[in-house]
Amino acid sequence: MTRRVSVLGSTGSVGRSTLALLDAAPPGTFAVEALVAGRDVAALAEQARRLGAATAVLADEAGLPALREALAGTGISCAAGARAVEEAASRPVDWTMAAIVGAAGLRPTLAALGHGGTLALANKESLVCAGAIVLRAAAASGATLLPVDSEHNAIFQALDARQPSQPERIILTASGGPFRNASLEEMAAATPEQAVRHPVWSMGAKISVDSATMFNKGLEIIEAAQLFPVPPDRIDVLVHPQSAVHGLVQYSDGSLLAQLGTPDMRTPIAYALAWPARMEVAVARLDLAALGRLDFFPPDPVRFPALRLVREALSAAGGAPTILNAANEVAVERFLARRLGFLDIARVVETTLDTLGAPAADDLDAVLALDGEARDVARQVADRLALN
Ligand code: NAD
Ligand code: MG
Repeated sequence: MTRRVSVLGSTGSVGRSTLALLDAAPPGTFAVEALVAGRDVAALAEQARRLGAATAVLADEAGLPALREALAGTGISCAAGARAVEEAASRPVDWTMAAIVGAAGLRPTLAALGHGGTLALANKESLVCAGAIVLRAAAASGATLLPVDSEHNAIFQALDARQPSQPERIILTASGGPFRNASLEEMAAATPEQAVRHPVWSMGAKISVDSATMFNKGLEIIEAAQLFPVPPDRIDVLVHPQSAVHGLVQYSDGSLLAQLGTPDMRTPIAYALAWPARMEVAVARLDLAALGRLDFFPPDPVRFPALRLVREALSAAGGAPTILNAANEVAVERFLARRLGFLDIARVVETTLDTLGAPAADDLDAVLALDGEARDVARQVADRLALN
C-alpha cells in the first residue's frame, strides 16, 4: 500500500536525507503530498519534480512567481507564505517529517500533528519552546510522535517498551563539536566558518553553531525531558568524540542499553519512516574494530555554559525554555552575520533569561508572544555586545 508523506524543510540537511530515503524506496512505496521549504526556489522545484510531489510550498512569498515558473506544466501546485506552509502541513498524510529549523517550525509542526498521522520530529525547537502544547496536540488527534534527533531516536530504541519499569537515567552523547579542545581565547575569536565545521555530522548552519556552543545538547535535554518519563536531573550528557554511541538508557538493575551506528541521519530518519518495522538503508556500517576505542568525558562547564543555562531554565520552569530558545536563535543569527562574538551567544541567552524571568506561557498565543518578547530583548542585548 502506498503511504502518503509530506516533508517540511525538504531543502535542508534532514530534509534532503529524508528525500534520499524516499527516492531509494521501490516505486509505489511512497507518494509525496507536500514539500515545504524556506526560500530556495531552485532546490524546491527540483525536488518537487523529482519526487512527483502534489504541492510545493515556499515560506518566502517573494519567491512564488519564480516557483510557479519553475514548475509550469508539471501539474504540481504551488503556494507561498506562512499560512500556505501551515495549510500544506495540515493536509492529511500517513507520515510527516518536521524538519524546519527553529521556532518557525512550531505552527507547521502543530498543523501536522492535527491530522493524526505519524509525525517524525527533527524540529527540536518546537518541543523546547512549546513542549506541553506539542504533546497535547499529539494526544488530542492521536498522532504518533517519533523522535528523529539521533540521541532521542537512540533512547526511543533503547527504551524497553515491554518492561513496565521506569528508566533510572538517560544519557545523551555529544560529539563536543569543533571547539571540544579549543581554549577560551580561541573560542572568543571563533569565526562562523570555524563554528559550522562540525567534526562528525554534516548539518544546517544553525544546529552546527548550536553544537559548537553545546546549546544543541542543552536543547536536547529539554527535548528529552518532554519525550521521555525521566525528570531533567536524571538526564545526563557525556562528550563522546567518536559519535558512535548516540544515546543510552540505564535501568534499576544496572543495565545500560545503548544504540550505536555511524553518524548518518538516514538511520534515525529511516527508523521513524519504517517504525515499528525496520527498512534497509545503505549507510556505512559501524566498524567497531576499525574504530578501536570509544571515549567518554563529562562536558566542561566553563567553556560551555549552555548546559548550566538550560538546567537553570528547566528549574525556573514557566516560559524560561521558550525564552532561552528564542534568545539563542537571535544570537546564532547575529553570530553567523559576524555581528556577535562566539562566546557572546551564551551571554545574550543568559542576560535575556535574567531580564525576563520565567513568566507562564501555557497556550500557543502566550508562547508566541513570549518568543517575540524574548527576541526583542535578545536583540537589544546583542546590540550592546555587537562587534561593529
Ligand atoms: P537546515 O537549515 O539545513 O534546513 C532547514 C529547512 O527548513 C530548509 O529546508 C529551510 O528552507 C526550511 N525553512 C527555514 N525556515 C523556514 C520557514 N520559516 N518556513 C518553512 N521552511 C523553513 O536545518 P537542518 O540541519 O536540516 O535541521 C532542521 C531541524 O532538524 C532543526 O530543528 C535541527 O535542530 C534538527 N536536527 C537536525 C539534524 C541534522 O543532522 N541536520 C539532526 C538532528 C536534529
Ligand atoms: Mg542530536
